[in-house]
Formats: sequence, structure tokens, C-alpha cells
Amino acid sequence: MLQSLLFVPTLKDAPKDAEVKSHRLMSRSGLIKQTASGIYTYLPVGYKIIKKIENIIREELDMIGCSELLMPALQPSDLWKESGRWDKYGPELMRLKDRKERDFCLGPTHEEVITDVVRDHINSYKKLPIGLYQIQTKFRDEMRPRFGLMRGREFIMKDLYTFHESEEDLDVWYKKVTQAYINIFNRCGLDIKIVASDTGQIGGDEADEFMVMSEVGEDTITYCMSCSYAANQEHSGLEEGDKCPLCGGTIKTAKGIEVGNIFKLGTKYSETMGAKFLNKDGQQKAMIMGCYGIGISRTLMASVEQHSTEDAILWPEELKPFDVHIIPVNTKDEAQCKLADSIYKELLANGYQVLLDDRQERAGSKFKDADLIGIPVRIVVGKNAVDGNVEFLNRNDGEKVLVSAEDILKYI
Ligand code: ATP
Ligand code: MG
Repeated sequence: MLQSLLFVPTLKDAPKDAEVKSHRLMSRSGLIKQTASGIYTYLPVGYKIIKKIENIIREELDMIGCSELLMPALQPSDLWKESGRWDKYGPELMRLKDRKERDFCLGPTHEEVITDVVRDHINSYKKLPIGLYQIQTKFRDEMRPRFGLMRGREFIMKDLYTFHESEEDLDVWYKKVTQAYINIFNRCGLDIKIVASDTGQIGGDEADEFMVMSEVGEDTITYCMSCSYAANQEHSGLEEGDKCPLCGGTIKTAKGIEVGNIFKLGTKYSETMGAKFLNKDGQQKAMIMGCYGIGISRTLMASVEQHSTEDAILWPEELKPFDVHIIPVNTKDEAQCKLADSIYKELLANGYQVLLDDRQERAGSKFKDADLIGIPVRIVVGKNAVDGNVEFLNRNDGEKVLVSAEDILKYI
């Protein structure tokens, strides 16, 4: 890709209301643009990374036997009245009327819709278990939208729902999904802690949250210094210095960003909405459900928070928007342009995703932009171009070497 054609509107200054580093950087790097409070446009590079996260999620969930579908964002109130949540959900639910004055909402979550899909098509244990997920825009009129993509009023979520004939089978799937989530967040370059949590608005029996440890996190995590005990403070009520309920060790507290969570819903929705099946003994039973979310836009934000300094992003391997950034220092110098162009073509021909900074900008501003865009491998084509040499920089370890352009493939 030629950088002159890429729409990546980097900024000198972050918006005034950007309180956290990742929000400042995502705006300055031209990844997102605020459209209204808590509502963002994902610009091309930001959206490219969103799609990478989505595809990692797809790979890991498909591998454990889940299938992707797409439910409507616009949901009729009838379903929400059946589950009893039309009255319970409160002002976070974005409600609207159609031209015939019928009530609708913009989905903040999809338990009602998926339960309706499954109850109409599955009626025997022979068709269970089943795992269905979607990647969808969610709407929640949050009281305090803030920190950019961290708490939006419109955001991208992956939501998975599983249906089972027994608690034991749900337990097996709960573990499988937990492992898939560990893989997903590892591949996104995130260090996570799994913590026990309350079931909250969604309801259910048991729940865990996937937390990225970070100063800017809105949740407080309590964890044991001596064993693996970890819980959301909302759930455990523990304070720093308390005794661990499992082993008696000392409890510590830290801040975390919730990037995902998993719930054992049990029969909450299947009972109220009549999602029943015939079991092996011919009895009619309510399906046992699990639900599992990942905040995709929030995961992007958490990744920037973890992989950046105030002026530079360094994308983890699987999220990087391009493999290599080529920067000719002086675009008026013919030797530099020629060499940069030939390396560009060679790398493209070898299947690399390459960004070539062909813009007529000062070198200083090119490097600043390159730091913001965050590609891990950089090839700087400068004065040594006359001898066929370029500077090769691996930003992961800071190693900078002068190499012959002919050897470039070896270095990459
Ligand atoms: P929170 O406690 O942060 O409000 P939640 O418990 O309401 O989260 P869920 O309804 O379970 O979250 O949604 C699943 C995932 O979606 C969350 O783990 C989080 O990563 C993401 N998420 C939730 N609300 C938002 C939001 N307003 N903006 C961006 N991502 C969100
Ligand atoms: Mg919430």
C-alpha cells in the first residue's frame, strides 16, 4: 500500500477529553474518530486491526465447534417482554418506535433473539449441544461513555451462546470456551487474569471475567499472593491485606480492563421463553445455556494501552496492520526512491503486507507518523541508498542494522 493513498489522519494533539493514553494515541494515530459522545468511526487502519481481532476470534471459536451467524441489531420489544427484561433493563437500553408505533430496541445483547432462534429449530437432545456466535454492533446508552472505545454507547462485541441437555455438558463447554478465550487474548498480545465475577444484568449461576491488568481499568480485582484465587472486588468484597478465602494467603488489589466474560446462564431464558427439548427419556426439559462475550473494540483499546508509549504504538505480531514499513527519507532523491520502490515490489511479490511512505514530507514527520502507526519492522532508505544499503529496524528489540538491500528478505 502506498501511504499517499492510505487514509490515516494522524494528529499532533489528542482531543482534550482523551484522559487515557490509549485514547490519546488511537486518536493521534488516525485509528478512530469520534462521531458523537461514545460513538466512533473506525478509520481504515483501526478497522484493519479490528478485522484481525475478529478473525482470531473466528478461528479459535470455529476450532471448538461453534458456528457464526448474524442476528439483527434491531429487536422487537415482544421478545424482551417475554424474557421480562423490557421493564428491567433501564435507561441503558436504546428504545425506539417504528412508523406503526410498535416498540423496538437496538440490541445491547442478544439472549432473547438467540433463544427465539433456537427454540423454533431444536426440540430434541439429538441436536444438542450447539454453539452459535456473532460479531455485531451493540448499543448501550451508558451513563458515562468514556476512555474512547473502552466504554462506548455503540461498540463491537462477539457474543457466543451455547445450549445443552445437562449441567455436565455445559461445564465441559465452559472449559473449552475458557481455553479458546485464553488463546484469543494471547494471540492479541494481551496478558490476562481470569477472575470470578457476579452475573449482573444478564443473570445466571456462575461467571468469570477476563481482565487485562491496567492502571486505567475500571474494575478492581482482588487476588491472592499465594494461590490462584482471583475475583472481581464487586463479587468478593475483599480488601487489600485481607485473608484469601481459599488458602489464607494475603489478598492484593489491582485495576483491570474487562475484555471478555463468560456466564453459566442455566435455564433463565429457556424457562421464561419456552426453549424446551425432549431428553433421552422422552421428558420435556428447558435447555441449559451458557453465554460468552468479548468486547472487540475494547480489546483493541486494551492492546494499545499495553503496547505503547505516549508517542508510539508497537503492535503485537498478530495485530500489526502491515508487516513492514518502508520509509525513503528524502523523496526528492532519485536513488532513495528507486531503491525503496524496488524493495517494496520485492516484498509484495513475496507475500508481505507492506506500507511505503511515498509522501513528500519532512523525514521528522514521517518518523513520527511511523511511530504512531506502529508497524514493528521498519526499513529506512537514506543516504546509503547510493551503495545499495538500507537501515533495518526491528522495533521489538530496537535492533538497528545497515544491510544490503539484496539481503533484505533474509532479515525479515
Ligand atoms: P462492563 O462491566 O464493563 O459494563 P458488562 O458486564 O456490561 O461490562 P457484557 O454485557 O458482559 O459486559 O459484555 C461483554 C463484553 O463487552 C465486556 O466484557 C466488555 O469487554 C464489552 N463491553 C461491555 N460494555 C461495553 C461498552 N460500553 N463499550 C465497549 N465495550 C463494552
Ligand atoms: Mg455494562
